[in-house]
Amino acid sequence: MARSVFITGGGRGIGLAVARAMAADGDRVAVGVRNGAAPDGLLGVACEVTDQASVDAAFAEVAERQGPVEVLVANAGITRDRLLPAMDDASMEEVLRTNLTGVMRTARAAAGGMIAARRGRVVLLSSALGFLGSPGQTNYAATKTGLLGFARSLAWELGSRGVTVNLVAPGIIDTDMTRGLSERRMRETMRMTPLGRTGTPEEVAAAVRFLASEEAGYITGAVLPVGGGIGMGV
Ligand code: NDP
Repeated sequence: MARSVFITGGGRGIGLAVARAMAADGDRVAVGVRNGAAPDGLLGVACEVTDQASVDAAFAEVAERQGPVEVLVANAGITRDRLLPAMDDASMEEVLRTNLTGVMRTARAAAGGMIAARRGRVVLLSSALGFLGSPGQTNYAATKTGLLGFARSLAWELGSRGVTVNLVAPGIIDTDMTRGLSERRMRETMRMTPLGRTGTPEEVAAAVRFLASEEAGYITGAVLPVGGGIGMGV
């Protein structure tokens, strides 16, 4: 059955791949964008996750255009890498505001409708490197592992209503986010990756799509790694 799907940060990278995969399945898909430009063939909805009014307006628009959100993919995220002694407050706060508070805010906006409908799927984009620990990414790792406590607590809150909440934890995926990594960093990371290559946004999308599916109805509070084996067992 076609569902109303909303993906934050869906204009490029992993979010866009998720949007395309779910649209191909026949779902009604809206992507949150900040610059107003929707990718070809998809419904674009202005959504800045650090701004409550923008999130409220986005959920209202999605509800009006394609029905209340039944599947939320909280994908919008940023990095501001720096070793901690050199990290300024703005880099800490911006990452927290986007990757953690922004996710909580969007999940909160989705939860009411899902509770009322007694069904729903929430999938959050975490990070395998977050769990492993990553120099220069104390801010980012704090948010991406923080999502685990958030997801598991929300899984308890929503479980009795048939709503699941899960994390996907990608390794190094070939998107704008990782294109700036130094060659040395990339080599080191690939040495820690049994499959020895970066992943594609489509490979992450396949995992998101599964956790968002009806078939995944008995999975909640879980972390699904999509990292070529990086950090396995952590
Ligand atoms: P990109 O940098 O390619 O895309 C990030 C997306 O998030 C963009 O669409 C961007 O919008 C959006 N975004 C950023 N800040 C905000 C905001 N404040 N409000 C709304 N939208 C925002 O990243 P990826 O596709 O690689 O990453 C997607 C998710 O996956 C992130 O959460 C990331 O942390 C996670 N991830 C990525 C990995 C990787 O290797 N690529 C590894 C592990 C996790 P805009 O286009 O307007 O800037």
